[in-house]
Amino acid sequence: MAAETPDSYVIVGAGVFGASTALHLIRKYPNASVTLVDRNAFDAPTKVAASWDWNKVVRSDYNDIVYTSMGLEAREIWSNDPLWSPFYHESGIYWISATGFAQQVLDNFKKLGVKADLYSLSVDEARKQYDGIFDTADYTNIKEVLINKSSGWAAAKDVLQRVLEEAIKLGVKYVAAEVQTLEFDTDGNCTGVKTSTGQSIGASRIILSTGAFTPKLLVESDPKRTELHAGGRIIAAAVTEATSRLGDNVSPKFYNGPVCIQEVPPERGASNGAVPHPQDKMVKFWGQWIFKNTQTHSSGLEFSMPPQQADYAQWDVPKALQDDVRFANPCIFGEQGKDFPMDQFRICWEALTPSEDFIISPHPASKNLYIATCGSFHGWKFFPILGKYVVQMLEQTLDKSLQDKWAWDRELPATHDNVMWPKKELRDLAKAT
Ligand SMILES: Cc1cc2nc3c(=O)[nH]c(=O)nc-3n(C[C@H](O)[C@H](O)[C@H](O)COP(=O)(O)OP(=O)(O)OC[C@H]3O[C@@H](n4cnc5c(N)ncnc54)[C@H](O)[C@@H]3O)c2cc1C
Repeated sequence: MAAETPDSYVIVGAGVFGASTALHLIRKYPNASVTLVDRNAFDAPTKVAASWDWNKVVRSDYNDIVYTSMGLEAREIWSNDPLWSPFYHESGIYWISATGFAQQVLDNFKKLGVKADLYSLSVDEARKQYDGIFDTADYTNIKEVLINKSSGWAAAKDVLQRVLEEAIKLGVKYVAAEVQTLEFDTDGNCTGVKTSTGQSIGASRIILSTGAFTPKLLVESDPKRTELHAGGRIIAAAVTEATSRLGDNVSPKFYNGPVCIQEVPPERGASNGAVPHPQDKMVKFWGQWIFKNTQTHSSGLEFSMPPQQADYAQWDVPKALQDDVRFANPCIFGEQGKDFPMDQFRICWEALTPSEDFIISPHPASKNLYIATCGSFHGWKFFPILGKYVVQMLEQTLDKSLQDKWAWDRELPATHDNVMWPKKELRDLAKAT
């Protein structure tokens, strides 16, 4: 029998956090009113969502044991559930990391008692794997390579659309609109949202899954009510990516191979990488620089936000950032990749927290308002299970340790030594030649 719920829900943002929440809610409460609002149509050919992409890495290799365990939970669904499995490809991952990461991952798997096809190899041994495609990669200061054959990648935009279709089929109402502000009653409780065309959409619970736009939406909803604002909890940050369409002149082993995550040279940034995409005979690369876009808002507040264009100017990629993605290719494929083209460049905007933990939490400054976003450059792979945790948060059944980990108010670590924390500004990169 279907569970009863007295609630109606407005979820703003149809990336993985919002779409997964909508699906989990409507499956659990088929009679509930669930409205999903996003500035892009559910079947738009391109979207501003970080969740929209050609492909994304799906892995459970983490030094944080909570995300290791969640990665394994998600993998079960990616591998076995007919909604998800057509989009998942267990290609393996080849990690070139100088940080002792391999041992930490192996320890986590051991602690969880999980058997996975996971091992580390000396560089000489690793070079020979996968038909030698990484033979000429940059292994400066690398002692061992971690190979996890139980991880891979998923066709990101395709599964996003399929899941949205499923949610709509089950009764979720999808509204393509820009939310301009939240709406509040006289006590400051959230009552709904107002779109840029003036439409009000009310609900008893309002969930923001608005990714990089979240800090701006909170400020615009009430510039004077600082307790509502994200402050230092969330920063809009971005990474550049590009497709490399290899076509028929390059051996298929390069676009049929594993994902490569490459942390050399470490002083450049967290990682660059390559994700195969055999359907299009293509590889997607991402660059190593993480950057922000600090602007002065009309309220006088200064914070990072995506560019103001409707598409976040995501296809308008300055040369310095194109070069940053180009840098990934020789790091990964070395001499063998020297003629690989780079075609479609994109800046992908994301909500990052100082601890890289998500925020899945009630908003303490406004009753009925909830935050479920901040993938912090690693949230996509949990798409099948994110909504489960958001529903638990709404129902106050979320495990206490996860409540604390994902709380709106939590201790924020310092960011100066954090390689994920953006130090560069988009405006400076746009000026650089
Ligand atoms: C370059 C790059 C590569 C990544 N690679 C991986 C990977 O390989 N594996 C992995 O696990 N993770 C990866 N991530 C992280 C992952 O993409 C994100 O954590 C995740 O997609 C965030 O999902 P989200 O739902 O919070 O936000 P988003 O996907 O950004 O969705 C937010 C949605 O909110 C909508 N929205 C915002 N404001 C409004 C408004 N005012 N009105 C209406 N709609 C609004 C937007 O249109 C958008 O659709 C990567 C991130 C980047 C940037």
